[in-house]
This record gives sequence, C-alpha cells and structure tokens, in this order.
Amino acid sequence: MRALCRAFDWSSTPLGPSVSWPQSLRTTTAILLASRNPMFLWWGPELIQIYNDAYRPSFGAEGRHPRALGMRGRECWTDIWEVIGPQIEQVMTTGEPTWHEDQYLPIERNGRLEDVWWTYSYSPVRDEEGRIAATLVVCQETTKRVVSQRERELLLEERRQAEESLRESESRLRAIYDGTYEYIGLLAADGTVLSANRASLEFADMRADDVMGRQFAETPWFDNTPGASDAIREAVHRAAAGEFVRFETEMRPPSGESRTFDISLHPVRDEHGKVVLIVPEGRDVTERHRAEVALRESEARYRALFESLDAGLCVVEMIFDERDEAVDCRFIEVNPAFTRQTGLGDPSGKRRSELGRQFDPFWMQTYGRVALTGEPIRIEAPTAANGRWYDAYAFRIGRPDERRIAVLFNDVTAARTASAERDRLLRALEVERSRLEYVFEKAPAFLAVMRGSQHVFALANDAYYQLVGKRDLIGKPLREAIPEVREQGFEELLDQVLATGVPYIGREVPVRISRTGVEAEERFVDLVYLPLVEGDNERVGVIAHGTDVSEQVRARREVERLYDLEQHARTVVEEAYRIAEAANRAKSQFLAVMSHELRTPLNAIGGYAELLEMGIRGPITDEQREDLHRIQSSQRHLLGLINEVLNYAKLETGSVTYDIEDVPVRASLVAAESLVAPQARAKGLTLETGECPIDLTARADPEKLRQILVNLLSNAVKFTDAGGRVEMSCSTDAEHVRLSVRDTGIGIPPDKLHVIFDPFVQVRSDLARRHEGTGLGLAISRDLARGMGGDLTVESTLREGSTFTVVLLRTNPTAA
Ligand code: ADP
Repeated sequence: MRALCRAFDWSSTPLGPSVSWPQSLRTTTAILLASRNPMFLWWGPELIQIYNDAYRPSFGAEGRHPRALGMRGRECWTDIWEVIGPQIEQVMTTGEPTWHEDQYLPIERNGRLEDVWWTYSYSPVRDEEGRIAATLVVCQETTKRVVSQRERELLLEERRQAEESLRESESRLRAIYDGTYEYIGLLAADGTVLSANRASLEFADMRADDVMGRQFAETPWFDNTPGASDAIREAVHRAAAGEFVRFETEMRPPSGESRTFDISLHPVRDEHGKVVLIVPEGRDVTERHRAEVALRESEARYRALFESLDAGLCVVEMIFDERDEAVDCRFIEVNPAFTRQTGLGDPSGKRRSELGRQFDPFWMQTYGRVALTGEPIRIEAPTAANGRWYDAYAFRIGRPDERRIAVLFNDVTAARTASAERDRLLRALEVERSRLEYVFEKAPAFLAVMRGSQHVFALANDAYYQLVGKRDLIGKPLREAIPEVREQGFEELLDQVLATGVPYIGREVPVRISRTGVEAEERFVDLVYLPLVEGDNERVGVIAHGTDVSEQVRARREVERLYDLEQHARTVVEEAYRIAEAANRAKSQFLAVMSHELRTPLNAIGGYAELLEMGIRGPITDEQREDLHRIQSSQRHLLGLINEVLNYAKLETGSVTYDIEDVPVRASLVAAESLVAPQARAKGLTLETGECPIDLTARADPEKLRQILVNLLSNAVKFTDAGGRVEMSCSTDAEHVRLSVRDTGIGIPPDKLHVIFDPFVQVRSDLARRHEGTGLGLAISRDLARGMGGDLTVESTLREGSTFTVVLLRTNPTAA
C-alpha cells in the first residue's frame, strides 16, 4: 500500500500533491500504513480515503481495492452509506469517537453481497490547528468469529431441543408404560428386575421397591401360583439365551380368582448381538379365553343342532345375472336332514344347476329377494318339480354383498293333506252344528233344559222365549226366572221327573204366563218333561219340550161354539124353509084359483060390453060408446094382468111343459118385431132387425120364445123415449145362439141390475106409475129361457140404453 500511495496521483484529489500535505495528514498516514491492524482514513470534508494492507482483505477479491484509494467516501460506500454516513458525520462534527462491536454490515465483495460483521471504532483526527480534519477507522472484521459463534449457539439450541423432545417422548412413553393395563417391565439379562410398570405392581399390590433388584422368578407376582416360579425361571433362562419366549399360564393374584395370562419375554441385544436386556410382558386374556371357550362350545352346540335338526337346513350363495335376477345358487353347507328331505346328496360347493334338477323359479325368485333385501321370509308353497309342499324360512346371513342366505325348511305335504282333511271335516262339522243349532233355535216346538234340583235354565230356544216372553232365563232357577208358574204344579212335576226318571207327558196343559207388557194370560201347551241323563246314568236335569197349542185349543173351542150355533141356525132355517115352501105352494094355488075365478067374470064383462057396443040392447049414444071403450080397455088390461100372474104361478108350480124344436131364429125375431111395430111407430121409435143369418136355428119352444121376445121388445119400447131406437140381432158361438134386444132408452142403474129378474120388481116407483106393469115380465121370461136350457142376461148403462140377450142352445153345436 505504501508503494500504491506513493504512486497515486493525489493532485487529482482535494488533498492535493502529497508534498503539500499538512504534517498531521502525513503523520497519520505513516502510522496507518505501518500498522498491521486494519485501518481506514476519511480525510477532509470530502472524506478522501486512505487504507492500509491489513484492511485490504476486507474488500475481498475483485472488490473495491484499489479503486477505493483516494475516492470520496460517499462515492465508495454507496451500499452502506445510510448506516455509516451519520456515524462519520457525528465524529466530524462533535469529535466524539464511536465503538461498534460485531456490527453487521453486509458489503459487496468477491462478486456478491456478503454477510460481514465488524468490530470498529471511529475516532476524530485533529490537524495542526486542533480542528477535526478526519475520521480514522480502526477496525477488525469479526465475521469468522461471529459466524462460528452463531453456529455454536445453533448447535446448543438444537441440542437443547433434542433433549427437550427426548424428555417429552420419555414422559409420553412413561405414561404409556404406566398407563397401560398390560403388565410390562425390564429385566437385566440375568433376570434381575430393573423396572416394572404401574399395572404390574398393582397386580400384586406392590411398590417398585418390593421388586427392584430381585430375581424376576422370585418376586411376589408368582407367590400364589404353584409351579409359576419355576416356569418363569426357565423362561428367563431361554430369553437370556436369545429366544423370544411366549406362553399362556394360569396365575392367581394375592386376592381374587385365578386368571389366564399370555406371558412373553423379549430379548434385547446390543450392537454386538449380545442379550443385554429382557422385556417381560404379561396380558390378562381371561375374558378372551372365556369368550373363545364359550364360542367353541356354542359352535359345537350349534353344530350338533345343525346336524340333528329334523328340518332341512342349507346355506347357499345366490347367483344373479346382470339384471339382479336370481339365476342359480351355490351350496355352501347343508345338514343331514337336507340330504334326507331333498335326496340331493351332499351338494356343498356345487351349483344347483349342476345337480341336474330344475330349480323351481318361484323359490329361486323368493330366495333371490331375501339375499338382495335382507328381509327374511316364512313361506309355505308347493314345488312344481315334485308337487310337494315345503314350509321354508329363509334369512340372509353374513355381509350383504356375499348374498348368502340360510334356508330352514320342512316337507309339509303330509301335514298339509292332513290339515286340509281336518279343515274339511271341521267345516262339515261346523255346518252340521249350525244346522242343528238352527233347528234347535228355530224349531217350532219349544225346548228348554233345566239343571239341578233348583231347575236352573241352561238352554232355551226361540220358541220357548216366545212362549214365556223375552226375559233372562239362563243361569236362573225356574221359580225366579218365571215366578208366575209357582203354585201351578210345574215345579212339583219337574221334581218328580228328576227323582223318578219317568217322563211326564201332558196334553193341552193350561199354564198362566205373564209375558212382558202383557197381562197374565192362559196358554195351553202339549208338554213333555224328559229326564236329562249324563255320564254315569246320573239324572242332572230335565228337558222341557213341547208345543204351544193355545191357538189350536182356542180355535177348536171356537169351532165347537160355531158348530153349535150353526146346528141351531140350521133347524131354524129348515123350519122357516118348510113354512115358506108351504106358503109358496098355497100362494101359487091361491093365485091359480084366484086368476081362474077372476077371468070368468072379466070375460063376462068383456062379452057384455061388446054386446052393448054392437047395439044389440038398443042404440047407444056417442058418450055411452066412449064409456064402453074405457070399460073394454080396463077389462083387457086387467085380463092381461091376470094372465101374467097365472103364467107365473104356472111356472112356479112347475106345471109348464116345453115343446122343444129347431126354431128358425131370424123368423122368430121378425115375427116378434111385427107384433110391437105399431107401438114403436106410435112412440116415434126406429125398430130394426139387424145381423142374423137366415138359416140359423136354435133349440126352443117357438111359442115361449116368441113370448120372451115380445116381452123384451115391449120393455124396450116402453123404456125408450121418442126418437130412440130398438134393434134386434143374433150371434152364435160353438154351443149357443144369442138373440139380443138393444135399446137407447133410460137404462137401469147398476145396483138394480141383479134384482130386475125377481118377481114384482120395478126399478122406480114413479116410472112404474107411468109405465103400467106387474114386474113379472122379466121373471117369467128368464124362467122360460132357463126352462128351454138357455138363459136371459142383461147389460145396461144408465141413460144410454140396455141390451137383453136370450141365450139358447144351438141346433147343431159345432166343435169348438
Ligand atoms: P113390467 O111389467 O114392470 O115391465 P118387467 O119384469 O118386464 O115388469 O120389468 C121389470 C122392470 O125392469 C121394469 O119395471 C123396468 O123398471 C125394468 N125394465 C125392463 N126392461 C127395461 C128396459 N128395456 N129399459 C129400462 N128398464 C127396463
């Protein structure tokens, strides 16, 4: 540096050529260049730099050296000026030196920014006048020391942390060691106990001191278990030789019952393979052991059950197609009953389809569903292949994806047949029973069963209730249930039947009964009391059976009463009849005699009147002639009346004879018509003969027929007002000829139609007075028609007209 300094063109700097430097600068520079301590000088207000050889390494290779010589400080240290600028400023203005120890000042050197630490002081340098002219830096780069110190601290920290985590892990392990229920410890290779965890100490209720340092086999752990000590000693010995020893043994703690332990001794070797430690471990496996034993036992039991089961049992895996339809199954296991019932041998491991027998689609689907859904099913159904019935219970076992099911089944074909038969019989029995019940209930005869000496009702049918009225009978004694029968002798009868066993039979027994809401009434019953015999011919009650014959008895009594009445009436009627007969006969005779006796004088009156009119007794005046006509008219009328009465009387006495012949009907009508034509014309009526075949004949007495027709025509004319119409016609059927006389007259009221044929009946008295008559015409006409084997009938409508029809027999009846 000395050479560099000398060669440097200082005149290009504010310091000017070195020859003109002040003494203070020279002296300071000389000291600086001579020192082996790194030094650096910033001179003057521009802080022109000078440094020594010892400082150079701080710039590094390819650093600021030698550029830094003679440079202005601010231009040289742009990178750290912010830090050192103010420090220099401080020294230059105040003259206070500074001290910085291990100051971190990263600088650019060796082509990069390096971490650099410095210990340095800034001191003022005064010139000849005592003014502060420069800052002298005496420095030491401490990077190496700082870095190595830091590394050391880092190492220390790491170690501290390692120790910390070791402690933590140890305490965690300790917690596990002491917290576990396993029994763990540590032995030296010779079997000396080095450590034992909490659980193992608690097992024998010990403290660590009780076992520490003692031989493992001689510790109290094994005191209560005979032989345990030797076994442990032997095990330690083998472990010490490098073997991992494990065995199960019974061990009894100081209190409580013996337990099963799984004990192991684990040898731990050093890096040379020598066994240095043994880790003993004990595990209480009593529960597991028991569970295993229980499991084995239950397995054996179920196996026995499986084998001896009467029902077929199989475990199958269902096989499905891609649409989840069951298509087959594989047998996993079957019991002997399965083989017996199906005759399939031992199909274990085989598919159903391999067994050569068609798997019924119904069962396949059913089982498939159970395997898929896990819903168990109990079903009784037939198998198509052999027609046998099976009662099957299928349920899923294992994981759902295994699709395994167990099927428990029984061939119930025989039972089914039997049960069907039993059902049929039961049904038949039921039908029979209900039929009997119906018969019993609905039997017209009453029936009741009374038991015991008190005659307690056990049974009563509808008819019985009808007899005694609706009331509570069952369970009650007779005298309570039907109190009104006391004192009527029935209880005594029952007692007697019960005592003797001889049935009682009574007919029309009267009994007074008060049915609810009805006054006590007397009824009659046909009654049988039969002893009820049960078991050992013991008489236990009485069956009352019978019929309520009250109505019959009453009806018969009524009939008897009516019969008496009728008998009486009959004699009265017969007597009356006899009297009437006699009277009638007397009347007819009287009429015949009377008429005869009356006709003679009447004829005489007529004859003499005629003589007078002829003028035989002398001339007569016109007035006398008129009187004579009235006398003649009255005489004719009276004679007509008498003739009719006589006719009727003849008919009544049965003395009329009929000369029946074939009478031409139409001719008869025309003849009758001509007889009444004058009267009809006089009244202004139309009289006609209508439809009537000319060759039609009827069986009749022509005279009597004429008489009938004239009578009917006369009535028609008589009861038809002027302008009316009277028409005759005839018709036939297979056996009869009908001759009708129809008028448009006043008609006959309906209530009179049936009496007009009776003798002396005239419909209305006022009319009767207008129309002379006897009321005998129709009576005579009907008697005559009937006398000829025919009849006379009438139809009439009031104010419209009447039709009288003479019915006669046909001459040649045609086959109908
Ligand atoms: P009568 O001598 O009174 O005519 P009938 O026996 O011939 O006696 O007749 C009985 C009664 O029947 C008559 O009085 C009359 O009231 C009634 N009757 C008979 N024929 C006719 C008829 N064609 N139209 C209405 N009434 C009749």
